[in-house]
Amino acid sequence: MDHNSSFSRRVFFQQTGKLGVAAAMAAYAPTILVAAEQTDGKPAILGGTPVSRTSSSGWPNRSGSEIEFLTDVANGGWGGFQGKYVARFEQEYAKMCGAKRCVTTNAGTTALVSALEALDIGPGDEVITSPYTFIATFNSVMAHFALPVPADVDLETFQLDPNKADAACTGNTVCLLPVHIGGYPADMDGMMEIGNRRNLPVIEDACQAHLGKWGDKYLGTIGKAGCFSFQQSKNLTSGEGGAIFTDDEAFAQKLLAIQQNGGYRGNNFRMTEFQGAALCAQIKLIEKFAEQRQENGMYLNKLLSEIPGLYPAKLYPKSTQSAWHLYMFRIVAEEFGLNRQQFIKAMTSERVAPWGGYGAVNWGGYVRTSYAGRAASRVYPKKAMDDYIERIGALPSFHRLCSEALWYGQTMLIGPRSNMEIIAEAARRIQKNAGAIAKLDS
Ligand SMILES: *Cc1c(COP(=O)(O)O)cnc(C)c1O
Repeated sequence: MDHNSSFSRRVFFQQTGKLGVAAAMAAYAPTILVAAEQTDGKPAILGGTPVSRTSSSGWPNRSGSEIEFLTDVANGGWGGFQGKYVARFEQEYAKMCGAKRCVTTNAGTTALVSALEALDIGPGDEVITSPYTFIATFNSVMAHFALPVPADVDLETFQLDPNKADAACTGNTVCLLPVHIGGYPADMDGMMEIGNRRNLPVIEDACQAHLGKWGDKYLGTIGKAGCFSFQQSKNLTSGEGGAIFTDDEAFAQKLLAIQQNGGYRGNNFRMTEFQGAALCAQIKLIEKFAEQRQENGMYLNKLLSEIPGLYPAKLYPKSTQSAWHLYMFRIVAEEFGLNRQQFIKAMTSERVAPWGGYGAVNWGGYVRTSYAGRAASRVYPKKAMDDYIERIGALPSFHRLCSEALWYGQTMLIGPRSNMEIIAEAARRIQKNAGAIAKLDS
């Protein structure tokens, strides 16, 4: 509904009547844009008709088995310790992706914490990762009082640049932690080559990357281990939850011990049966949705790449399937004619608002502040922190990316193909009228 315009009750009923079907579907699923019936190509911000009459999204959707499975759990066996739904989900998810073992956890963050713990990572160790990520990636390293070392990204793909990761390695480096950001595959050949050459394990932060593929392998199955999140926003969800893939049986046994206070520096990271039941229901949908996102994502890439100044995040040649947790693109202001803020504002008027994504976190400052306390400062005195921050350096591509990036959420891509055309039409008309729109600010 457009809250800005005043319209009569009659118009209101006309619109809601026509939107009835879309609204009913939206209770269960994706973002559905409804194209305006008449448009003159004039951007809404200049007084034209918005490209979309509505934007509604419902997530998570339901497969239909949720109530049955969750009721079954409610009738007994609430814990995840040898729970049947948790075990069933672990088997199904591993089989679907070709992993030998799947060990569930209560969150994606604790999946990462567990994998790093199973590698015995601790104070003084360095882990190379991408600065363009959710803060949990860094926190999982810091949970072990180790140093997360961000290496710069490749501006075009948004992913950790293997050359920069290689250059960031020191004698203290113990692990490579690439992130498949947005669910788009990181350069796994590049990362595995460094790992093999330097004898460093690779852990994939695949928290956004369910069913993404590198060549014929699913993301999360290429490195020593791959970590997933089933948090509410993710492409496969149980509200909260996580899992680790590994092909190494001894490693899986360690993960199981860590997950249930069974040894090492154990903890309780167990998934509950409620989460397991929700996942057993949700997993029924994910292959179909992955296919739909891939089709729509590639189509939107094609449409947006035809517009001057817009650059869809590039996929590597071996990225046979992105998970499209996000749809990511960049705006180059000088070419487009508007800066990112102006573009977002104009797209918002069209009711197809993208957002700017991650801010340019000062990671060195974040780690320094977090390690300023009594215990950590024994491991990292001032000199060590100064050296660390100097080594991180300016990360120019990361900073540029944070100022140019634009995102849509994954639900947009499980909507109809026409969503892509509506978004592209909005961007196209805004670009064509960039001069007039820019004048609004002056
Ligand atoms: C979501 C996410 C995590 C953490 O997962 P939680 O389930 O929220 O703990 C870690 N890394 C990345 C890249 C994520 O997107």
